[in-house]
Amino acid sequence: MELKKNDEIRVLIEDLGVDGAGIGKVDGFTFFIKDALPGDEINAKVIKLKKNYGYARLMEIIMPSPDRTEPKCPVARSCGGCQIQAMDYRAQLKWKQEKVAQLLGRVGHVSDYEMLPIMGMEEPWHYRNKVQYPVGMNKDGKIVTGFYAGRTHAIIDTEKCYIQLEINEQILTIIKTWMSDNKIAPYDENTGRGLVRHVLTRIGFQTGEILVCLVINAGKLPHADKLITKLQEIPGMKSISISPNMARTNVILGETAKTLWGQDYITDYIGDVKYQISPLSFYQVNPVQTKRLYQTALEFADPGPDDVVWDLYCGIGTISLFIAQKASKVYGVEIVPQAIEDAKRNAALNGMTNAQFYVGKAEEVLPRAYEKDHIHADIIVVDPPRKGCDKTLLDCMISMQPEKIVYVSCDPATLARDLKILEEGGYKVKKVRCCDMFPHSVHVETVCCLYHQKKDFISVPYEPKNAEYLKQG
Ligand code: SAH
Repeated sequence: MELKKNDEIRVLIEDLGVDGAGIGKVDGFTFFIKDALPGDEINAKVIKLKKNYGYARLMEIIMPSPDRTEPKCPVARSCGGCQIQAMDYRAQLKWKQEKVAQLLGRVGHVSDYEMLPIMGMEEPWHYRNKVQYPVGMNKDGKIVTGFYAGRTHAIIDTEKCYIQLEINEQILTIIKTWMSDNKIAPYDENTGRGLVRHVLTRIGFQTGEILVCLVINAGKLPHADKLITKLQEIPGMKSISISPNMARTNVILGETAKTLWGQDYITDYIGDVKYQISPLSFYQVNPVQTKRLYQTALEFADPGPDDVVWDLYCGIGTISLFIAQKASKVYGVEIVPQAIEDAKRNAALNGMTNAQFYVGKAEEVLPRAYEKDHIHADIIVVDPPRKGCDKTLLDCMISMQPEKIVYVSCDPATLARDLKILEEGGYKVKKVRCCDMFPHSVHVETVCCLYHQKKDFISVPYEPKNAEYLKQG
């Protein structure tokens, strides 16, 4: 049967795509259908046909998936934030773990490893410590803040977001009232006029400290004192700043931040390690799960007091400092100079003297240090961005022959590709554990532990130290 645009099709959804769309087949031809879930039997309308696949719009759910649930958020379907809120949380976790196992097998040819149960959240709501709200004006001239509708720049007017902290609603109300009282216009992307572009907030989960930063289309904020007076009343408020961004760009933050009131940063903890977070610095957004992720990386690495560890793609040194609590020496490598400055400051803040940081590309710094200085590593940890590790880096790691490699990944497809190379280079994947850092999205983080095969290591059986992890999955 030859399908064409606007045809009605009946589809059983079998999987989810990378952006959360349901995937199903009609006569062997693959369709991507937004808002449809695995297990749903639906009617859909063809909207676009490509050579090997097509897109269709969900028209009617004939038989809902047993995993379907009522989304908590009324704008879950139109907002671009949570792609799979309509899927029961346990089913989300199961799907994520299966996805990783599937890719490791199919792409990575990895087998015979221990898959520990995925670490899900007990309360998968209000988990984000950072939010960036776009500010705009609706058709009636009302100031709105909220989120971009999926893939567009139309703002969905909502103060309520179930993955953000509730205190943000109060902050937004203060800012919007101050804007209308003082006739301060939101920024208009089309004309490049107006002042307030985004509101950024960061909240320390352990400390309760709050930072508010207004991204503005100017160097100065008029009537700042009135805004400060109001925001200051919120318990925990520690830092109020502006970040000027006059560029006609999609980039949210400006290049600098200027403190208007209070400190330049807030302080927070992950485990026992303390961090200073300023408006522009990188910091993981789900602190509860970050702690579990790093704890797992640390347990997998299991460094002894004499071990030398290299932490590649180290960001602000979060994993490095976690590991430095146990290892003899940790070297961190990261491409962003600002992040390395934060890493050094965080090391000093915690009185850690056994961590050293380098700015540069991991695939250049490590090979250079190995060839020129014959450096040695007992353990190498990598936590690359979605595109995974550079082949040059993997080859260098294989030549260095560390006893263990711990791979922390935010994309199971590139993880699987890289694990194949490492296994061909003499390593064996022993343990894998997924962690749900972004409930209601399709993302999943994975930690893998690889051992070098030829070396004669004493294998210590893995004992999860925190039984709490095992409740999930
Ligand atoms: N481990 C850190 C950051 C992980 S995110 C944490 O958990 O917080 C990945 C990091 O890799 C980012 O900080 C990014 O700036 C950095 N990065 C990207 N490409 C890189 C490269 N080629 N070499 C080194 N670092 C890189």
